[in-house]
Amino acid sequence: MAGKQILIVEDERPIREMIAYGLRRAGFDVREAGDCRDARQQLADRQPDLLLLDWMLPDMSGLELARLLKRDKDTRELPIIMLTARAEETDKVAGLEGGADDYMTKPFSPRELVARINAVLRRAEPGGGDDRIEIEGLALDRASHRVTANDRTVPLGPTEYRMLEFFMTHPERVYSREQLLDRVWGGNVYVEERTIDVHIRRLRKALEAFGCDHLIQTVRGAGYRFSARSH
Ligand code: CA
Repeated sequence: MAGKQILIVEDERPIREMIAYGLRRAGFDVREAGDCRDARQQLADRQPDLLLLDWMLPDMSGLELARLLKRDKDTRELPIIMLTARAEETDKVAGLEGGADDYMTKPFSPRELVARINAVLRRAEPGGGDDRIEIEGLALDRASHRVTANDRTVPLGPTEYRMLEFFMTHPERVYSREQLLDRVWGGNVYVEERTIDVHIRRLRKALEAFGCDHLIQTVRGAGYRFSARSH
């Protein structure tokens, strides 16, 4: 997605410059900020297409900034990829709860970063990426809202469909109930977290008939994950 503008917020200059160099080579238009204050000023001037946000920053944590941006209607839609040096899953979950669209654990290769950026930008586009997603014989057609398993239709209610669509476009990540509420129902609706479990159960039951229920995994104490692998 060459030509897209990316704002990098990272206080460690050598790292920031290295990332900027890699992204410029990939054709992105790159701006840089050394702290959250600087980043917010730049965001007020002109909004980039994506924010690359370091977790550990001197004035405010990247996580706090992500939360602020997702709460503000002007920046709510801005895709954010968090950069973190911590590898624990719980931190990643916290990062995503804070509103990040994806995260990368340092160190990472420039190629890996470009691939992630492109994936997040594609999802952020109206219509959001590929129309047909297929994982392990389970296929979701976003144009017709139809789900099939080995070419047989899987009957799903609208909420179960939206939930499955979210999972299939965000595989291999753990999402808490709170995050699922935000992402599947939208932040302004009042739904109890227990409701999530009810819909997860219905979704699993629908998939069970086709031998696909193992794709929806419970991660104890963290939430749910869509994964083709067993963990
Ligand atoms: Ca840092």
